[in-house]
Amino acid sequence: MSHKYVYLFSEGNATMRELLGGKGANLAEMTNIGLPVPQGFTITTEACTKYYEDGRKINDEIMAEIMEYVAKMEQINGKQFGSLTNPLLVSVRSGARASMPGMMDTILNLGLNDEVVAAMIAGNPDPKFERFVYDSYRRFIQMFSDVVMEVGKKYFEELIDAMKARKGVKFDVDLTASDLKELAEEFKAEYKKQIGEDFPSDPKTQLYEAIRAVFRSWDNPRANVYRRDNDIPYSWGTAVNVMPMVFGNLNDNSGTGVAFTRDPATGEKKLMGEFLFNAQGEDVVAGVRTPMPIAQMADKFPEAYAEFVKVCDILEEHYRDMQDMEFTVENGKLYMLQCRSGKRTAQAALKIACDLVDEGMIDEQKAVEMIDPRNLDTLLHPQFDAAALKKAQALGKGLGASPGAACGKVVFTAEDAKEWKERGEKVVLVRLETSPEDIEGMKAAQGILTVRGGMTSHAAVVARGMGSCCVSGCGEINMDEANKQFTLAGKTFKEGDFISIDGTTGNIYEGIIPTVDATISGYFGRIMSLADKYRVLKVRTNADTPRDAKKARELGAEGIGLCRTEHMFFGEGRIVPFREMICASTVEEREAALAKILPMQQGDFEAIYEALEGYPVNIRLLDPPLHEFAPKTDEEMAEVAKNTGKTVADIKAIVTALHETNPMMGHRGLRLAVTYPEIAVMQTKAIIRAAIKVQAAHPDWNMKPEIMIPLTSEVKELQYVKKVVVETAEAEIKAAGSELKYEVGTMIEIPRAALTADEIAKNADFFCFGTNDLTQMTYGFSRDDAGKFLNAYYDAKILENDPFARLDQVGVGKLMKMAVELGRPVNPNLHVGICGEHGGDPSSIEFCNRIGLDYVSCSPFRVPIARLAAAQAAIKFPR
Ligand code: ADP
Ligand code: MG
Ligand code: MG
Repeated sequence: MSHKYVYLFSEGNATMRELLGGKGANLAEMTNIGLPVPQGFTITTEACTKYYEDGRKINDEIMAEIMEYVAKMEQINGKQFGSLTNPLLVSVRSGARASMPGMMDTILNLGLNDEVVAAMIAGNPDPKFERFVYDSYRRFIQMFSDVVMEVGKKYFEELIDAMKARKGVKFDVDLTASDLKELAEEFKAEYKKQIGEDFPSDPKTQLYEAIRAVFRSWDNPRANVYRRDNDIPYSWGTAVNVMPMVFGNLNDNSGTGVAFTRDPATGEKKLMGEFLFNAQGEDVVAGVRTPMPIAQMADKFPEAYAEFVKVCDILEEHYRDMQDMEFTVENGKLYMLQCRSGKRTAQAALKIACDLVDEGMIDEQKAVEMIDPRNLDTLLHPQFDAAALKKAQALGKGLGASPGAACGKVVFTAEDAKEWKERGEKVVLVRLETSPEDIEGMKAAQGILTVRGGMTSHAAVVARGMGSCCVSGCGEINMDEANKQFTLAGKTFKEGDFISIDGTTGNIYEGIIPTVDATISGYFGRIMSLADKYRVLKVRTNADTPRDAKKARELGAEGIGLCRTEHMFFGEGRIVPFREMICASTVEEREAALAKILPMQQGDFEAIYEALEGYPVNIRLLDPPLHEFAPKTDEEMAEVAKNTGKTVADIKAIVTALHETNPMMGHRGLRLAVTYPEIAVMQTKAIIRAAIKVQAAHPDWNMKPEIMIPLTSEVKELQYVKKVVVETAEAEIKAAGSELKYEVGTMIEIPRAALTADEIAKNADFFCFGTNDLTQMTYGFSRDDAGKFLNAYYDAKILENDPFARLDQVGVGKLMKMAVELGRPVNPNLHVGICGEHGGDPSSIEFCNRIGLDYVSCSPFRVPIARLAAAQAAIKFPR
């Protein structure tokens, strides 16, 4: 038998979501449990995939099967396409596995043409019926033209407006049958004008075109963007549902509505929704007229309402989740047109999950599984006031690099951000891109907006770390740094002008949009403790200040997985001696400069250990190339010259010599410790001394600092640097008469390290995957520049998403898996974690769980997300 591409609703069920799409599977399920659903059929997602495989054609075999099912549908419903006595009218609706706004809109009333319209009217003398027929007809022409043939909506809306003006009426409902008849003619004429052909009158041609349009819409730009943002693979395809129309616009005893079984905003258990009588389809949402709250439906349609309430209970009981439903009443009789698990706010999601557990509807694991970890973001950052946001019009869009909302005056330099903040202003820092020097200014700003850079650009990483809002890589901005201004969408922003940015969506707005503070409700804590109960992966944080570390602890971090030491060098009083160190010409000079830094660095570590309350702290030795710290301005050079007794010319020469063509692959990471072991010595001393001191202050804590050596590619270089670290540490411990334990491990972030992980594991207590660099080096994509061409890669379907945001499990993941499998057998005590940006991404966390990592480490504000994602991974794939 040939492959089955079409299913009657009575042939499917809710478990067939992948094949039938969400809408189709649920229409089938509702049919099975005896709810009133107009009986039609679903064309599978496989037919969609086949359509693309066949070069965007519906092949003859599938077309023949569709026609066979049209005949079945005609028989079941006792109506025929094109019949003049009993015409069948249908809706054609797209339906992917996951609900996907941005895809094709629905087409209603398909099957109408001049003859059918005339026959319907002739068969019913009621003038109101005539009006209904013409209303349906003009809607059909309008939707078909817009959706199938992509003739812009606006032409039709203009015609409607012109008609209303001519007739002196305000609402569509006030147009008479003859007005609508005229309008239908005008629409057809408009269609012909735009397309150059007559409006298709054969219902089967109409159906064929509509199905093609649904398949085509899977690949439209809006759908592609939505998929990328929501982790939906392109390969899934969409299903198409074809079903007989029921008419909410038939008369005043009819109507259409949408409802939720619980409040999608708060989660409160009560029926919520809206109903509009004498209306069809999207009228409720489109705001053509004001609908009535669902409760009022009880007065006007008591029987249909009572039945609807029963249906709601049946559906909740059946699906054991809050349902979102679409329904129509035709002549007092209820028809169900759609049900699905309702979209909800993060607050509502938490409350509903807890309530369902308490109601005995679901178990704890299900409660953990039903919450989208990414939604928790919104609970942790300030947000724009929803009503104000709705009214605002975005001027442009960058990457939503770090969630939250920011509103403030535009400033162009980190120094200005700091200064303005100090005098009490709220600012948004706008930069071409940021660099480590901008840290202070970034902290001072409400949010950061950059013209260049992707999801792992400096601005993005640092902002996420600080939990502040960042929109990165908005290439539409025309920057004029020299004059402290930029233009976007034709508007010029000068220093001090107000701007608002949304780090979740990446949207940029002119002016002030008020923000509201994030609140954490009690349900949040309850779900988090359930997550902790079921997860296997530990969750640590990337933090390098006591403030961030404390925040992360509050949010449930069980340690620091990555403490970057370089950020500390930009702090008060450090950058100058650090520059002296960089510009030193001899070991002695370097050591003298390092000696100035040592106590400060020790203090930093003490504060971080204190904040972590005895939980593990992993500290990475200096990683970035030295030139990032080099003095840049004349004053900075003069200061270093003065302190070191060199001339400004000397300093200039040294700085010039530090320049590298390819700094990301240059003199950085443990290569610095090979050339300047003194730096590793100083840092090791600071780490160990601080640990000894904190241990003494808290005898009940079990201090065991983890010293992490970055950028290993060859076991011998690791051994070389490790020797320096161990000798220093041992000497410190001995001198202090302490028994402190510590670990020395390495980052795995160069493919060669993964490939030789068995050798490396013999010399390391732990591995930590630095997946930012590992991705960069595995792909050979510069993480700071990839944004420039990734869009072309998405368009060409070479990549579906940014490998820096979502771990490439195929390639980079294979290296990780290999490293774990090579490393563990030679060193059974080896512990393994991940500390790249991917450590906070739910699908990447699922992968880390699968390959048996011990922990993930992410920025503080992602800790709750990681806890939940880790629990979901453990439930889905028990180890
Ligand atoms: P969306 O996914 O955008 O909600 P739907 O396919 O659910 O699109 O259709 C939108 C609206 O069209 C539904 O809410 C429903 O009111 C109406 N509709 C769809 N199919 C039918 C039908 N067979 N009879 C009556 N109304 C329908
Ligand atoms: Mg719908
Ligand atoms: Mg790295």
